[in-house]
Amino acid sequence: MVKAVFPGSFDPPTFGHLNIVERVRSIFEELFVVVAVNKQKSGFFSPEERRDLLAELLEPFPNVKVMLCDTLIVEFAKLHGCRVLVRGVRSVPDFSYEFELSIMNKGLDPSIETIFMPTDPRYFVLRSSAIKELASFHGDLSAMVPPNVVRALKAKVGP
Ligand code: ADP
Repeated sequence: MVKAVFPGSFDPPTFGHLNIVERVRSIFEELFVVVAVNKQKSGFFSPEERRDLLAELLEPFPNVKVMLCDTLIVEFAKLHGCRVLVRGVRSVPDFSYEFELSIMNKGLDPSIETIFMPTDPRYFVLRSSAIKELASFHGDLSAMVPPNVVRALKAKVGP
């Protein structure tokens, strides 16, 4: 059985991310959902806040672990015995970005494979960046993110 990593910013987690996790988790022995810490970009939520939101959402799934990573993802994968990186793809521009990233990761560690999971059509327009913008205008986010994320966004943007 193979272990996999699903890395991302998850700033914040959306129904699109959760859908990928739900579909992928039964394919693998263990799935690490990893909040990749980007030292160049300060997020809307801190990496720890994102990890805690994901941990709350994924708690029902015994073979899913939520972790932070401040190294290269391929290094994280190697360290945890994972042979596969999972990435979600919403659109053709997503695919060209993800394709380049996968080639770069393959160059860093040829033993680790990337697989792409196409989005569920219900979620193909969901983007963390658009959600943060909508939250700043107090828009209704209930169809895009789960209730704990709605609450966290409301608390962050204030009245
Ligand atoms: P990034 O790592 O580019 O910051 P995110 O953290 O937003 O991306 O997302 C992590 C992974 O989840 C990426 O592979 C991204 O393509 C995928 N993803 C994000 N939103 C969706 C969605 N609505 N449907 C499917 N996949 C998605």
